[in-house]
Amino acid sequence: MNERYSRQILFSGIGKEGQSRLLKSRALIVGCGALGSAQAESLARAGVGKLRIADRDFVESSNLQRQTMFTERDAAERIPKAVAAANHIKELNAEIEVESEIVDVNHSNIERLVKDCDVVLDGTDNFATRYLINDACVKHKVNWIYGAAVGSYGVTMTIRPHQTPCLRCVFEAASPAASAPTCDTAGVIMPIISVVAAVQVAEALKILVGQTENLHGSLMQFDVWQNEWRKINPGPPSPDCPTCGLLQFETLEAASEEFAAVLCGRDAVQISPSQATRINFEELAHRLQATGEVKYNNYLLRFRTGEFELTVFQDARSIIRGTNEVTTARSLYAKYIGN
Ligand SMILES: [Zn+2]
Repeated sequence: MNERYSRQILFSGIGKEGQSRLLKSRALIVGCGALGSAQAESLARAGVGKLRIADRDFVESSNLQRQTMFTERDAAERIPKAVAAANHIKELNAEIEVESEIVDVNHSNIERLVKDCDVVLDGTDNFATRYLINDACVKHKVNWIYGAAVGSYGVTMTIRPHQTPCLRCVFEAASPAASAPTCDTAGVIMPIISVVAAVQVAEALKILVGQTENLHGSLMQFDVWQNEWRKINPGPPSPDCPTCGLLQFETLEAASEEFAAVLCGRDAVQISPSQATRINFEELAHRLQATGEVKYNNYLLRFRTGEFELTVFQDARSIIRGTNEVTTARSLYAKYIGN
């Protein structure tokens, strides 16, 4: 341990004791895109003993400009991001444990993912999932680190339930759909990803080694193109906050039903089935091969028919490309995958 981590142990903020705490810690990364890639690599190199990586997607060539965990081969083979990240981490630090979770993070799994972790890092790209993380982390008293980046702008805040404001204290409601720029409409450049992820990882390390007095305690904003850096004091937790004040965790209580989501800017819709199931790819491929082109690997099956492409994961969740219409996607799903 000493040789690999020697430079980090020399750093007075961590030291020998801090390093042994890191090795005993478990961190959850929700979403392994650009921010999640950078977080996963840094935490793995730092020797955080257990990393749990949850992501619903597979690697595509448009990811490679900023998602540093992935290679052209991952994109060509469409490896799920949670698996591709784990494969690369094994090569850069075989001493730590990585758990890959190929899931759409939602109310049915977030508490299981969060509750035995020492810290959670936000690598998502949407507020719905962030409110879900916030609810689960406040409920289970797990520290988490919000982070977001679009264009050249980024923001981050560290949430320690009941000691600092939570996400809902600061942002009461998400901005309405389509009103805010996203990476798919405004693009994003790698340097802002590096900045936000670096601050998130530094905060995670402080939490894991127990140096909470060094946390930055603010809503931190950066723009690497306009050269603006700002720290906003978020004040104390709000006693009227539905989440950390009133302990109402509404996002965790959503009814179980088939869930369809338009994947913004990707000309695709995701369908998640209402019941947990496990798909046999060999059987499904056999059934579909007469109607289109089918390929599968251990993690997903891809089926192309006409202008549509269906990617089916083992839990029957599917991403249907070639449409932004939920009704079209639902009918393709019913027709080819079944209910
Ligand atoms: Zn709150």
